[in-house]
Amino acid sequence: MNNSYGDGTRVVHSVSGGPGEPFGAQPVFASVYHLGGQDTYGRSSNPTWRALESALGSLEGGECVIFPSGMAAISTLLRTLLSTGDTLMLPSDGYFVARRFASEMDINLVEVPTAGPYPSFDGVRLVLLETPSNPGLDVCDIATLAEAAHAAGALVAVDNTTATPLGQRPLELGADIVVSSDTKAVAGHSDVLFGHLTAASPDLATSFRNARALNGAIPGPFETWLALRGLGTLDLRLERQAKNAAALYELLSGRVAGLRWPGDPADPAHLLAAQQMRRFNGVLTFELESEEAVEAFLRKSRLVSAATSFGGLHSSADRRAQWGDPVPEGLVRFSAGCEDTHDLVKDVSQALGLD
Ligand SMILES: *Cc1c(COP(=O)(O)O)cnc(C)c1O
Repeated sequence: MNNSYGDGTRVVHSVSGGPGEPFGAQPVFASVYHLGGQDTYGRSSNPTWRALESALGSLEGGECVIFPSGMAAISTLLRTLLSTGDTLMLPSDGYFVARRFASEMDINLVEVPTAGPYPSFDGVRLVLLETPSNPGLDVCDIATLAEAAHAAGALVAVDNTTATPLGQRPLELGADIVVSSDTKAVAGHSDVLFGHLTAASPDLATSFRNARALNGAIPGPFETWLALRGLGTLDLRLERQAKNAAALYELLSGRVAGLRWPGDPADPAHLLAAQQMRRFNGVLTFELESEEAVEAFLRKSRLVSAATSFGGLHSSADRRAQWGDPVPEGLVRFSAGCEDTHDLVKDVSQALGLD
């Protein structure tokens, strides 16, 4: 697609059909096809998959392979690229289930905080970065790290879940692979789990596609269609979510500890984030004094739901320590939804007793 178009135009047209076709691809549920066309059997290919893969691939500048969840994408990435004894470098402060999965593989792990310092990449087969990291929202320099990792012969994958395909294009910054949980902002409506890998090299994409066909854990056509339908409004949703996050940052600034949102110039990661990200999103992090303080906040709020996900239409908050993240008891990952800014700010303000 014409790259001079804005995000709204690009994302809307990435999920649209051409003349004579429906505006959006429709779910095709076939398990078996009459031979002679592109499709043969539903474990290997499906027209609805192709519609979403082409949309995400065009937004990210590579070849996309979709999976039934973010973890299915991550586990396929690690199983496909790593053999016994290989070394994986991964973030110590990133998504904890990815670390847990890697720790059960017969490989060597080097855990590094997203903000660094990064050790030598010598002997590393795959570097997995996550930026902004989840839940701490630290940021690392993808281009610089990819260059150093490549010089040492390592491949680089970036978990782009928090940033979204509109917020950051890791392949353009030099990464080999994008991994994403589309359960979050891409599908965006808290009604489907989904994930994808996008590779710069067609050969890597082919190996992920083959792995999916062989292991048989494939996305359902209906779920694929839901993700595709959600993707079409990503620009609109991100715009409102980022506006809400900016207003909440302003409200909370100086009044809660550990406030992080890379979109604000006062955030320690802002300079780097502004340099490599195309736009910001609705995810903030802050600390209240205790588990009880977080519970009281959630009890008093009328618009913010306790939920362990982010990027959806509804504002939600998650006390990450309850899931085993190595973070303070009162750390809250806050996902600003698409409510009116005025209503959300007012609600959070009264629930925290800031009025
Ligand atoms: C949620 C998440 C995942 C896992 O995705 P699922 O769709 O829940 O399997 C991976 N990475 C990050 C950064 C996430 O937030």
